[in-house]
Amino acid sequence: NGFAALGLPRPLVTGLARQGIESPFPIQEACIPDILTGHDVLGRGQTGSGKTLAFGLPMMARIAGDRALPKRPRAIILVPTRELALQVNDALEPLGRGLSLRMKTVVGGMSMGRQIEALRRGVEVIVATPGRLTDLIEQGECSLEDVEISILDEADHMCDLGFFPVVSALLDQTPVHGQRLLFSATLDGDVDQLVKRFLVEPITHSL
Ligand code: AMP
Repeated sequence: NGFAALGLPRPLVTGLARQGIESPFPIQEACIPDILTGHDVLGRGQTGSGKTLAFGLPMMARIAGDRALPKRPRAIILVPTRELALQVNDALEPLGRGLSLRMKTVVGGMSMGRQIEALRRGVEVIVATPGRLTDLIEQGECSLEDVEISILDEADHMCDLGFFPVVSALLDQTPVHGQRLLFSATLDGDVDQLVKRFLVEPITHSL
């Protein structure tokens, strides 16, 4: 199996096989080993390339290594829209269950109470839109102090929607030495600012 050969743990590989996914796409072959070894990665490409699994699988593999069940999130995935958050969560959450990872979408337009309940019980991974995550942090319901991996998906779209300051402020709350992964169709303007400010010697992979 091509995913096992990339170094992913068995529960993820069998979870993928159950969905009929056996061979990695090129972006996955390129990104997964680099992310597993802890590099910052800059992925340039469109949706439909398989980028969700390209960042999601190695992120979950790294987070799952630690047996302790912390209250605070260890990884965040920031996305521009609620729809994309739900899509990313649907793709990753069932696979993460095989590693006992708890995942929650934290997005506007949905019950804040349920999101707060989940955060209080504890989650390892948050899939969030920047505004709602900021609200919950300001209410004292969430802390990014233990975040080891920060992922920005569709960073260009987030910047187009005016999220650059909010995303920057969120990343500023994560540990300086954390791993950062940024995916975007374009890498100019505000996206370039995010890369320069938050990624350290990133390895770039284009599609
Ligand atoms: P994405 O670009 O992450 O939105 O993924 C696009 C679609 O490709 C999704 O429906 C995935 O389930 C599917 N997909 C991702 N990776 C693979 C793969 N290695 N083999 C088959 N389908 C895949």
